[in-house]
Amino acid sequence: MKKTLIVATRNAHKAQEIAAILPEGYEVRTLADYPQAPEVEETADTFAGNAALKACGISALLPGLVLADDSGLCVDALGGAPGVMSARYAGEHGNDVANNARLLQELATLPPPHTARFMCAMCLAEGGLVLAEFTGKVEGRITATPAGEHGFGYDPLFVPAGYDCTMAQLPAEQKNAISHRADALRQLMDWMRT
Ligand code: IMP
Repeated sequence: MKKTLIVATRNAHKAQEIAAILPEGYEVRTLADYPQAPEVEETADTFAGNAALKACGISALLPGLVLADDSGLCVDALGGAPGVMSARYAGEHGNDVANNARLLQELATLPPPHTARFMCAMCLAEGGLVLAEFTGKVEGRITATPAGEHGFGYDPLFVPAGYDCTMAQLPAEQKNAISHRADALRQLMDWMRT
């Protein structure tokens, strides 16, 4: 029998990546399957805090295991920005084009290399209570020229360490092998097995 996991997101890209990374034996549902589920406000100032808010908020209302992913990009030269503001760095939530343009603008006068990392906090909850929390990351740098059509968000500007192409130029299977999300999910799967 498959284990059902409700991923507390309406971000189809995130949900798709999580479903692709999870091993056989999991059935992934998302908030698209629960249109009545409320929007949880991300008011914490850390990824882990926001992941816990989303996982606990949704699992208090829906039965079963709820997994939340709060993630984003941290750029050293910007003191860790956009960080928890990643989705709304340019103002409008989820406007990737505007967010990428603002990032390039902020970095334009700062000397490269622009080292950065993608961070992913995951929180597993049930009945409104935290069961487990994990943090994944992938190191890299920001390039001045966007490239690639895969992925989402800041992927066209992020060059993973050890690669000479952007995350958006990697096929989904390769991103899903090295990403911050994959790192956090590996830890979650290890925890599930214990
Ligand atoms: P959240 O929905 O509050 O967790 O915000 C996630 C935001 O971080 C997204 O809208 C993207 O801007 C960025 N982000 C998170 N994960 C990725 C990724 O895998 N690739 C590119 N951008 C990402």
